Amino acid sequence: MELPRINLHAHTLFSDGQNLIKDIVNKALELGINYLAITDHFTNSWKSGIMTNLDSTEKIEDYLNEISECQEFLINNHKNLRLFKGIEVDLSSSANYIKRLINPTKFEIILFEYLETPEGIAFVRNLIDQWKNSVSPLKDFPLIGLAHFDPSNFLYDGLNVLIQFLKDYNIFFEFNSRYPQYYSRRNEMFFKKLKEHNILVAIGSDSHDSRSLDNILDPHIMIKAYNLESNLEMFINHLKQKF
Ligand SMILES: [Zn+2]
Repeated sequence: MELPRINLHAHTLFSDGQNLIKDIVNKALELGINYLAITDHFTNSWKSGIMTNLDSTEKIEDYLNEISECQEFLINNHKNLRLFKGIEVDLSSSANYIKRLINPTKFEIILFEYLETPEGIAFVRNLIDQWKNSVSPLKDFPLIGLAHFDPSNFLYDGLNVLIQFLKDYNIFFEFNSRYPQYYSRRNEMFFKKLKEHNILVAIGSDSHDSRSLDNILDPHIMIKAYNLESNLEMFINHLKQKF
């Protein structure tokens, strides 16, 4: 089967990207991308001092409105591009800050970056549990993924805990073409487990300008190499249900 062109990780001027949301969307149309998520940064760690990010309720509202307008444009013009509202949450942020500013049901995709330890797993698990307790209906809950996740942090210790966590919470692994070392063969054991446990996988170029929006071939090749095409298809079926 010919897999659709998918890029679920793109930054704009709302954080450290260089383009407007609508410019990214137009470029994606030009490139024939079928699934696109805008995923600007969210953090109150030390990074918030040096990086533009989605740091207020008002700004998040503007961001979501701009994506909504593009979504309407795509639907009204029958474009073959599905656009998703995403956000990339820095796990060094405080839980209270995340809970105060992010209403998960307003997003279709939430990426977490810097999951590196068992404590990080516990942090995400608590957050999702609390979110899910406050949300109804549950079908509005976003898809959750790990941005540029490095499996080698768990390869020799905690791999089973990690896999169980991904499975229990239906969390996807992102093949991020900006960090190809994370899906290299040295992490093959991890990818075997993804296959074995039907863990969802996705693709993102982590683009900060529209030129790198098309860097999705390498992830496709590696998904095939690890025999994870059916995992990607499962993920795409989840995306389709978001519309
Ligand atoms: Zn990113």
